[in-house]
Amino acid sequence: MRKSAHVEQYPICWKTCCYVAGEKQMPPFSENIRIFASRVGQSPAHEHVNSQNGMDKQALLGEIKAMAAAQNAEVIEWRRWLHRHPELSQEEYGTMAFVAERLAAMGLKPRTGIGRTGVMAMLRGGVEPDSYCVALRADYDALPLTECTGLPFASENEGVMHACGHDMHTSSLLGAASILCRLRDRLRGSIMFIFEPSEEKYPGGARMMMDDGLFAEVKPNEIYSFHCLPEMDYGRVGMKKGKYMASTDELYWTVRGRGGHGATPHLSIDPIVIASHIVVSLQQIVSRNAPPMMPTVLSFGKIIGQGRTNIIPDEVKMEGIIRTFDEKWRLEAHEKIRRISCGVAEAMGGECDLFIDYGYPYVVNDDACTQQVHDNACDFVGEEHVEWLDLRMTAEDFAFFAQKIPACYFRIGIHEPGTPFSNLHRPNLIVDERSIELASGLVAYNAVMALENRIKA
Ligand SMILES: [Zn+2]
Ligand SMILES: [Zn+2]
Repeated sequence: MRKSAHVEQYPICWKTCCYVAGEKQMPPFSENIRIFASRVGQSPAHEHVNSQNGMDKQALLGEIKAMAAAQNAEVIEWRRWLHRHPELSQEEYGTMAFVAERLAAMGLKPRTGIGRTGVMAMLRGGVEPDSYCVALRADYDALPLTECTGLPFASENEGVMHACGHDMHTSSLLGAASILCRLRDRLRGSIMFIFEPSEEKYPGGARMMMDDGLFAEVKPNEIYSFHCLPEMDYGRVGMKKGKYMASTDELYWTVRGRGGHGATPHLSIDPIVIASHIVVSLQQIVSRNAPPMMPTVLSFGKIIGQGRTNIIPDEVKMEGIIRTFDEKWRLEAHEKIRRISCGVAEAMGGECDLFIDYGYPYVVNDDACTQQVHDNACDFVGEEHVEWLDLRMTAEDFAFFAQKIPACYFRIGIHEPGTPFSNLHRPNLIVDERSIELASGLVAYNAVMALENRIKA
């Protein structure tokens, strides 16, 4: 491991002795930790704290928390740099370079340009590095929004903003990487760090990176990622087993009629009226066609007919989304939407083209991986700050990873209690930066425990 200035400056406390990172006299994690780890998921978290091995776990927790705290000022600087320099999906060249530079400074050998602008780095642990691999993923693209937070480190790229918190994700994973690099000699297995571009734009950076050979050499046994959650206060962590987030597909209609004077509609085929009927008719997809127990959303976000008060246009363009939680129903719904749209247009003398852009599948969290995150989060922030979450109709291309590898995608609260709520994808999104230290530590702790626990061996 190549030493870097910031790695060397933090002493690490291991209960009864202190040592400086980079020196190699520390033993692997104790058998006690392994015995403890093997019990994760089989009993409530508070039992772990009180178990006979609790001291070892407490020592590890204390060590990781101390490292997260000691490095936090620097990690927040990284986050602010990323926030100041947001880049749109598939254009994250500056971000890629920044992340790769940080990883190299930790002694890793990052591979850049995977899936065009993605980065991957492997951390080979000191004990049986080829025997098990845990992947940790963060996304790092920004959105086409003009920031209005007034923060001193607000976006310097006009019309682009980290409004989905991906700057928080990326800096936190860099923070976790920094911690894990200093625990390298005692890690039992390897850790793959995945910094993913273009989460916000189809086909999604996850698929682009996998198509570009991300797992060609090593296929991880487990994969973890998180998203910040403004609905949840700082200090809280949440997760859900099984189906968690919806599949999403984009729908683009072109409805054609025959334009004319608004005063002589009988000489026209009015595409605005046809489009209106299509919008209303498609409401039955959710209310009459979707299985009642299957969450489904069909929403329209754009209707454009370029006429005027007295001009009937030739065509109308519409855009929308459909989201759900079942692959078979997803495809059936596409077919029904197409049949209703075209049937309505034809019955009214017009035509309809429907283009369906297949997006992301629904996210399925592996039960055992999710229980592991839950138990580790209970250790890290206390059981009273951990909650089981409901389904969400939002979507995530992490679903592609979760289709290949047992996964857990969880949530970390970023709302500063007592301040106004500001949502994701809004130009006034504010992140409580204390969540970065928490995320760095928790992600690192969960990774160490996952390597010890090996629930997917
Ligand atoms: Zn987003
Ligand atoms: Zn996001």
